[in-house]
Amino acid sequence: MTNPGDASRMAPWRGMLLYLVLGVAWVYLGDWLLARWVSDPVVLTQMQTWKGWAYVLLTSAVAWCLLRDLRRTEKVRLTMAKELAQIVRYAPAGFARVAPDGSILWANERLCDLLGAPLAQVCAMNFREVMLAADRDLAAVRLSHLLAGEIDHYAEERECVRRSDGHKVPVLCTVTLVPESDGEAAHLVCVVQDLDEIKAARAALKNSEARQRLAATVVDNTMEGVVVTDAHSRILSANAAVTRLLGYTEEELLGQTPRVFKSGRHDKAFYEAMWSTLRQTGHWQGEIWNRRKNGEVFPEHMSLSAVRDPAGQVTHYVCMFTDISEEKVQQQRLEFLAHNDALTGLSNRAWFGHQLELVVQEARVSGEHVAVLLLNLDRFKDVNDSYGHATGDEVLKHIARRVQSALRPGDVLGRLAGDELAVVARHLRHSDGAAAVARHLITAVAEPWRSPDGFEVVAGVSVGICMYPEHANTPELLLQGAHAAVYGAKARGRGAWCFFHEAMTQAARERLALESRLRNALAQGHLQMYYQPQVQIATGRIVGAEALVRWIDPEEGLISPARFIPVAETSGVIGPLGEWVLNEVCRQGQQWRLEGLPDLTLAVNVSPRQFHLTDLAGCASGALAESGFPPELLELEITETALAERTEEARQVLMRLRALGLRIAVDDFGTGYSSLAQLKRFPIDVLKIDQGFISDIPQSEDDMAISAAIIAMGHSMGLSVLAEGVETAGQLAFLQERGCDAYQGYLCSRPVTADAFAALLRERSGAR
Ligand code: C2E
Ligand code: MG
Ligand code: MG
Repeated sequence: MTNPGDASRMAPWRGMLLYLVLGVAWVYLGDWLLARWVSDPVVLTQMQTWKGWAYVLLTSAVAWCLLRDLRRTEKVRLTMAKELAQIVRYAPAGFARVAPDGSILWANERLCDLLGAPLAQVCAMNFREVMLAADRDLAAVRLSHLLAGEIDHYAEERECVRRSDGHKVPVLCTVTLVPESDGEAAHLVCVVQDLDEIKAARAALKNSEARQRLAATVVDNTMEGVVVTDAHSRILSANAAVTRLLGYTEEELLGQTPRVFKSGRHDKAFYEAMWSTLRQTGHWQGEIWNRRKNGEVFPEHMSLSAVRDPAGQVTHYVCMFTDISEEKVQQQRLEFLAHNDALTGLSNRAWFGHQLELVVQEARVSGEHVAVLLLNLDRFKDVNDSYGHATGDEVLKHIARRVQSALRPGDVLGRLAGDELAVVARHLRHSDGAAAVARHLITAVAEPWRSPDGFEVVAGVSVGICMYPEHANTPELLLQGAHAAVYGAKARGRGAWCFFHEAMTQAARERLALESRLRNALAQGHLQMYYQPQVQIATGRIVGAEALVRWIDPEEGLISPARFIPVAETSGVIGPLGEWVLNEVCRQGQQWRLEGLPDLTLAVNVSPRQFHLTDLAGCASGALAESGFPPELLELEITETALAERTEEARQVLMRLRALGLRIAVDDFGTGYSSLAQLKRFPIDVLKIDQGFISDIPQSEDDMAISAAIIAMGHSMGLSVLAEGVETAGQLAFLQERGCDAYQGYLCSRPVTADAFAALLRERSGAR
């Protein structure tokens, strides 16, 4: 920048030069022109007079210009001197004009402060007075160098003594020699600065620099994107997180406006509201969708702040944001899970109930017929147990998809429990329509699930149907009715459907009551074992007995296992019940041995669920160990149907039982569909021909043929064959003729109490 004084100093010189050039040009050029063009001497004289006047005029103008420039320069000089004097007077450093002998000629306010004395007193002082005695010699040497012209200034740190309190103030003293000029004697100019103040100022500067560095480091390393713009929203800086979150480098963003991040998801009103809040409160925060450099649109949590200067003017905007896509996904997932089942994605129980309620409300108005169908998967627990839960999950998802695809638009589907789906079928004309839906669903579910390894799993389903308004008129009663109807469907066999009616509910209630009574009976010791002799046909000797459980209810009397074993199976009581039977039979068998009765094989029935779902081998070995009964005298009867299911797993269980030394009998043989090839793989000892094939002998040719075939087949496999339910001598004769090994049935004895059985045995063997 040019000093205004420089321009002022130059102006008179320029004026002078101009005057000289113009004067010379005027004299010579004027004379030359006149001599050339004017020949008349009178005119020439006249012209020369004019030339003279013009010269005077020109000279005056130039003189006036010169004067004006000089005045201006002087004015500037005076103003500057005044300003300088003001600056020096109030400068934060001490200034003094000092005579070469050290006497202070003038000092500014700051120096008076430092020296602790008013101006008049300071002006009467010599600098040497405020110096420490030790510094005086050195100061004298420096001064002599200065005055000799060897140096033009010097600066040194020293202490000066404050007049008011004698306190020593550390100062930086800079002394400059001003040589004599314009009649002013040579003098010194001293600048005195308080060293403590300088240090404090430096420390403050350092501190603020450190804080700025710290702030910059925090901004650079924070996980939040930070963009700073000027008041016109032009981006001034963007931290590393911005690059990570948006994909732009800081260089790419500098000078741009945040409009480059616009997603297009918000309307004008949104941005207007945002700016209005920002203007009013200086702050805005909320969720906003922005766009990354790669075009991806994502949600952010953003806070925007205006930075104002002391006058209240906005100087910058600071925008901080975080990517909340993950949170959003999580939130959506939670919302989804509040209404849907995590595995299948179907409506959960609560949401299904809500949807059903809406349908019922609409049906009340429209008068439409609605069916609630409850789909209970058949033996789904077995699928889980056999193939593992991961496969079970896949099968469930497959079933959910199949059912979904079998429904009509407007129908509702939900998963109420592990193996329970529910459907609301709408706009039905009558109950036949609901039955058709049920059949359709059963067929859809029957489609096997194929594993990536190629094996197939088929899960059947039993469907209970409850109709609005025929059977029930509230969502709760409709679901309850469908539930009760499922029991009816199950009773008809797997893969069946059944409508709700009062009798069904009654039956369900009875089943529940029976279940709790059975638990109680087990705990109270109301169960008792009966024994039915097994007779060796060739010798007529009792070689064993089948143990059959009885429930002696204090009020109802004897309850048949045919009534309570199915309830025990479905409710899970079969586990503890089966364990009790095993323990009791082993205990009894050992007791008879100790009482001296001949060794007998005791056969214990094992129900399919007990076989597949409880630790049968563990339970049997426990009972044997506890009682001391020999394993080879214990026979476990497993029904053919239990063996036909999940054959490999069944084989494993049988192998474990065989390893204990037990005998294994296949009960009710002929009623299941086990293949001969399968049977061969099982470690089996006895085949028990189902009594259904014996009862019609000798009338039924077929039964006789079947029984004969079973005997022959059993023998060919090295198995012993026992016929159940032998009631007549004719039946026995037939069996004997066909080489059957043993029988049991009313012909010999009904199942009797342990005491009665022991008595029978003693009587038969002649023992007492
Ligand atoms: P099951 O194992 O086939 O037992 C034979 C059934 O036939 C017994 O009925 C027996 O009383 C009956 N019975 C025996 N001889 C004759 C006969 O000559 N004629 C006729 N009509 N029936 C005869 P029960 O005792 O009522 O047992 C029924 C079923 O209950 C048994 O069939 C068995 O599957 C089951 N069960 C009995 N006790 C137990 C047990 O302790 N545990 C398990 N899991 N099931 C048992
Ligand atoms: Mg049996
Ligand atoms: Mg049987």
